[in-house]
Amino acid sequence: MSTLLRSREIRLAARPVGEPTAATFESATVDIPEPADGQIVVRNTWMSVDPYMRGRMDDAPSYIPPFVLGAALEGSALGEVIASRSAAVPVGATVSHFLGWREHAVLDAADATVVDLALAPPEAWLGPLGTTGLTAYAALTRTAPVREGDVVFVSAAAGAVGSVAGQLARKLGASHVIGSAGGPAKTKKLLDTFGFDAALDYRQGALDQQLAQAAPDGIDVYLDSVGGDHLQAAVGAVRTGGRIALVGAVSGYNATTPVPGPDNLYRAAIKEATLRGMLVTSHFDLFPEWIGKAASWLADGSLRTEQTVVDGLDQAPDAFLGVLNGANTGKMLVRLEAAR
Ligand code: NAP
Repeated sequence: MSTLLRSREIRLAARPVGEPTAATFESATVDIPEPADGQIVVRNTWMSVDPYMRGRMDDAPSYIPPFVLGAALEGSALGEVIASRSAAVPVGATVSHFLGWREHAVLDAADATVVDLALAPPEAWLGPLGTTGLTAYAALTRTAPVREGDVVFVSAAAGAVGSVAGQLARKLGASHVIGSAGGPAKTKKLLDTFGFDAALDYRQGALDQQLAQAAPDGIDVYLDSVGGDHLQAAVGAVRTGGRIALVGAVSGYNATTPVPGPDNLYRAAIKEATLRGMLVTSHFDLFPEWIGKAASWLADGSLRTEQTVVDGLDQAPDAFLGVLNGANTGKMLVRLEAAR
């Protein structure tokens, strides 16, 4: 097998206890072989860092296997095909795939999706048109469907899922959309850019009291990305027959002791509320429908998105730590190299 080029990748050096540190990661240089029959070689230009990756760093059973110690990390990425032995995916195509955290990826063409850059710029395919946008869509149409006139509450509302979810709730007929985020710059952005009616700063006082003030008659739908105090406040505020989508629990991802859960779950029983978990991987059938809608909303300006971009593979670990700590507005992305 002859070598095509040398390339760098980021590996899991040690399983973190609590918050990952620089020692969690190591960089390595590897040989990239010529593609075998049916394979392509991709020069990655963008990669995603996502909160769920923290769970894959633990050696614990989950819906997706743990990262392997000493092996390259994985995740969504986008790049340009530079070598191909597949008629379906030619050299020059831009593809999305799952071998991020490396400059070049060798994979079966069947595991790559050719993206249409006429529809949206490359980075959008890892954000609003990627799994975070789809998560918002599936959560608010399937898991906790928004109905005309609903009061909707979204947590981590300035983030990738949340910023799309707030605007989507409105498009689905919500009468009042409330978001929570950390700090005044983000709450201002919720109101000025992402079209929320009310913005709660969870670092400024008890969230349940803030939510009760913003929604004195309660909420109908809650998209939970945070868990802990946010879920407790939502269970307290949910109206009879309300719906809660359990999407994430980022407040506990780095915790070394269990994060206290809601102590008021019986309130959900009394109010006959639905709390339903969701995994975006079970909703990939919605991708064509969602991309069709979202691409036209991006084009007409009625869906506003932001990215926080960090440059260079070496900065990817910091970008990942940043997304867990709120350093991002909108989607946190790593730009590996501009397309040539
Ligand atoms: P994101 O919201 O862009 O980034 C995570 C955000 O979480 C940070 O920006 C930070 O914003 C917030 N955060 C961190 N610690 C917090 C805390 N203690 N309390 C409140 N907020 C906190 O990330 P994303 O990719 O869009 O994901 C959002 C959530 O959805 C995550 O929980 C993720 O795991 C989940 N998710 C689930 C699925 C699924 O299939 N179920 C798919 C995609 C994502 P602040 O500055 O506002 O604190």
